[in-house]
Amino acid sequence: MKPRFLVPLSCLLLGMGAMPALAADPSRRPNIVFLFADDHAWQAISAYGEARKLLDTPNIDRLAREGMRFDRCLVPNSICGPSRATILTGKYSHANGFYNNTNSRFDGSQTTFPKLLQKAGYQTALFGKWHLVTNPTGFDHWHILPGQGVYYNPPMICNGQRVKHDGYTTDILTELALDWLKQRDKAKPFLLMLHHKAPHREWEPALRHLGHDKDRKYPEPDTLFDDYAGRGKAEREQDMTIAKTMNDRDLKLTPPQQLTPEQRKVWDAYYGPRNQAFRKANLQGQDLVRWKYNRYLHDYLGCIKAVDESVGRVLKYLDDEGLGDNTLVVYSSDQGFYLGEHGWFDKRWIFEESLRTPLLVRWPGVVKPGSVNKDMVSNLDFAETILEAAGVAVPAEMQGRSLVPLLKGQTPADWRKNLYYHYYEHPGPHNVPRHYGVVTPRYKLVYFYEPTVNYWELFDLQKDPKELRSIYGQAEYAAIQKELHAELARLRKELNVPDPDPKETEIRPQKAKVKKK
Ligand code: CA
Repeated sequence: MKPRFLVPLSCLLLGMGAMPALAADPSRRPNIVFLFADDHAWQAISAYGEARKLLDTPNIDRLAREGMRFDRCLVPNSICGPSRATILTGKYSHANGFYNNTNSRFDGSQTTFPKLLQKAGYQTALFGKWHLVTNPTGFDHWHILPGQGVYYNPPMICNGQRVKHDGYTTDILTELALDWLKQRDKAKPFLLMLHHKAPHREWEPALRHLGHDKDRKYPEPDTLFDDYAGRGKAEREQDMTIAKTMNDRDLKLTPPQQLTPEQRKVWDAYYGPRNQAFRKANLQGQDLVRWKYNRYLHDYLGCIKAVDESVGRVLKYLDDEGLGDNTLVVYSSDQGFYLGEHGWFDKRWIFEESLRTPLLVRWPGVVKPGSVNKDMVSNLDFAETILEAAGVAVPAEMQGRSLVPLLKGQTPADWRKNLYYHYYEHPGPHNVPRHYGVVTPRYKLVYFYEPTVNYWELFDLQKDPKELRSIYGQAEYAAIQKELHAELARLRKELNVPDPDPKETEIRPQKAKVKKK
């Protein structure tokens, strides 16, 4: 399906505002292409070689083959908006003021890396999901999905003006980004941020990808029927199971509203007979969960097919224009995601599947092709990395650290040995209580600190990589537990994290003041 565009003329005259010319030769500064997905689990990228081999992502894999794959990229707050705010500012949620998706608003007056690149003479553009409530700042051109966005025929906002597009959102965003690249001022370096909605819930694939897996039965994670023994109330009382939480929209038993009659026919031709057979079978118990799991993976992975094609199209453009050699390309997601592990979908937890996000970086001449990095890195580091790559001074207030030495294969001796984590969105969707903790290469100390859900957990990732059994309070771990408590206290002090109010019953309100424009 070729997307058709209904775009005002003002949105076709892209990013041509005059910028001060720099004394240095701007052609030597690398272009930055930041390719970003929403909820893209590393388990669903074939370059990560996950045991289940869920799908092939040849174009995303090309970035691993020609660049560096990071195996321990961790997020400090595993949810959409906060993660985006962290990437832009290089700061933790408590420092940039964006804590949660429920009542936070991004203070667009604060320093972000796109703003600094723009000031340094870069052309800057953003396409796709933004999800920070206030309008983007720091971009010559922006064309975003309102809120979560939709998968088909999406309304969008182009530089403040509402527009409507017909087609599949992943394709439309790719077309818009390529159009912008074609029309840019070729005398200047550029920053392109292409933020897909996919593969976010409700996981609606391009119509051309329905049936992509030929009704494959997917290998199951061995924790699909986790009973949460060995862990506490939070894990037992969450609301993110495939068994109980998935609704008819998620499971494609109800079609999305946005489809045109022609699109609906294609949709019905695929899902109709399968849904009919499902209803007739009247599955129960684990059989029902298994059916849901397979439907979920068909849809989720189907969304990623189009994302992978998008990456391929952008890389081909860079090839065709001879830009590849001087362009730093990043592929990442706003967090990890559960694909049935522990019986779950969604994210939020400090636990591995949601904590760890994919990160692939291609930068010819700097990154050795096919290299793999296992250091503990974070999306806190993205801003500083991109600024250093562009030769722009990094503000002292940023809380990450540039990955440029790691990209060169030279991890500094004093690289971080642990990471502070803090999740705030509760009460909220999926009922994951607020928690904070410290993650080290081997251990994870976690504190669920709300008055009604008040307990500590400790995991030994070496002995228990699937995090099935908290060993908090066990005598043999007393020394490491004490050490981790001290480290957690030190991190909270160093990072200036406000103490939670023990009487707090509402999610933390946003503290930063937002200027009205
Ligand atoms: Ca997300």
